Amino acid sequence: MSHQFNFCPNCATPLQLLAQMEDGGEKARLRCPACAWTHWNNPTPVLAAIIECADRDGMVLLARNAAWQGRMFALITGFMEAGESPEEGITREVAEETNLVVDELNLVGVYDFQRMNQVIVAYHAVAHGEVVLSPELAEYKLYRPEDIKCWRAGTGYAMAKWLTDRGHTPQWVELPPRPPQAAT
Ligand SMILES: [Zn+2]
Repeated sequence: MSHQFNFCPNCATPLQLLAQMEDGGEKARLRCPACAWTHWNNPTPVLAAIIECADRDGMVLLARNAAWQGRMFALITGFMEAGESPEEGITREVAEETNLVVDELNLVGVYDFQRMNQVIVAYHAVAHGEVVLSPELAEYKLYRPEDIKCWRAGTGYAMAKWLTDRGHTPQWVELPPRPPQAAT
């Protein structure tokens, strides 16, 4: 869920859409007329994991978010938190959401997800352990890599890249439109 900024977080003055010269030219942004604070609205880093289960014959774990409509299975994702590296963050997210222990991480790539104003940092995570889902996830499935269908959005492109790197030709599915939501 995204919230609009109405007041300056520094001095509580109502923000205004003010044009100002920046390095790239004049740009209108929400700014504070009193203390010059600017709402940059930078994309939020989201970490994502393609989980390869080392103790389940290399099957890939995809999970369905409890908040999603339809039976769509996707990568484990979560917001990067202050005070952690991307690798620490995705290791934490995988543990929190699936109870699996990450043994190895390989960066797949970095992808924009402009609809949510996010930038996705996607990893291939080799993991092991007993699967215990967090309440945010409704169910999971284990897939052979060659059976995975990719979707045309940030993490789906990461999945396609990973499959291509392993010699598979990605298969694509078209997603039904769904309302914006926060990453979990
Ligand atoms: Zn201010």
